[in-house]
Amino acid sequence: MTTIDIESTKQYLIAMGVYYPRNHPIFTCSGGSPMGYIFERDREFSYRCSGTNIQGQQCCKRERKTERIDSFFAKRHLSVNLVLEGMFYWLNKIPRMTISSMLGCSPESTRNLISGIHQLIQMDLMNEDIQIGGLDSNGNPIIVEIDESKFGKRKYYRGHRVEGVWVLGGIERTADRKTFLVTVPQRDAETLLQIIKKYVRPESIIYTDWWAAYGGLESVINSNYTHKTVNHSVEYVTSDGVHTNTIEGLWNGIKMNCSPRLRTKKMMPWLLMEFIWRRKYEGKLWEGLLKTLKEVSFGNIESTAIFTDFEFIYDNNEESSED
Ligand SMILES: [Zn+2]
Repeated sequence: MTTIDIESTKQYLIAMGVYYPRNHPIFTCSGGSPMGYIFERDREFSYRCSGTNIQGQQCCKRERKTERIDSFFAKRHLSVNLVLEGMFYWLNKIPRMTISSMLGCSPESTRNLISGIHQLIQMDLMNEDIQIGGLDSNGNPIIVEIDESKFGKRKYYRGHRVEGVWVLGGIERTADRKTFLVTVPQRDAETLLQIIKKYVRPESIIYTDWWAAYGGLESVINSNYTHKTVNHSVEYVTSDGVHTNTIEGLWNGIKMNCSPRLRTKKMMPWLLMEFIWRRKYEGKLWEGLLKTLKEVSFGNIESTAIFTDFEFIYDNNEESSED
């Protein structure tokens, strides 16, 4: 449990632009009077209009607004201190059950918090964060390695059926190593091409392993891209230097960062998104989280999301029971 007093936390959130300042016009009643900042036993602090304007006339029926309005904290039952503490643990990859006991709250509250964080960081990722390739600043085509990999849950018992999730990924062979990652429902050439069109900018040079040729990529990929393949069963680097070592490193990185028990169809898209978000703010995660808290309004959740095909569901059974 925390010892930081709650007023300091609120001042911090106001200073960081996560909460509205106390004199913000949003804290005005429908009758146009500024609302006072008041203490209410069950609601922590909130804003309330006296019901009377400065002319002494009735302006509203003593309307209220929460100081958490529009923020990530708006519909959370945990105190701001616990939410921030939980976020800090999550950033540091503390397991969910451990977070629960450190916060002293139920596993369900922690799960809700983490799914909220996923929703939050998803809204922070813009198209420029997930589109890769194109031309570099000198006008040269960027090399993009594309590959697919199967993510399965760990086989806990012999004879237990292992369900896998296929993930298609692309990574730039640049210093930024910009990446896209998506789960693929079907592994046919048409699906592949749709994904490449969405995530890989035209004029990129695409390197793939031989699988893409089997998938028929060669026959559908259009003239916007140059495509080269390497056959791993024969050679690891072709004579003209084509290889896919960068993306092999990416798969290893993801597999180290995603607990095998979470590699399910429902969780994988969120884990991939989390991976990309963490890469975006590498070395400055806390700043990234605060920036995200500041910039994402929870007043209009649906409209800004780019991963619209994600189902925002945590399935308890799928996540925890089979091991
Ligand atoms: Zn009023």
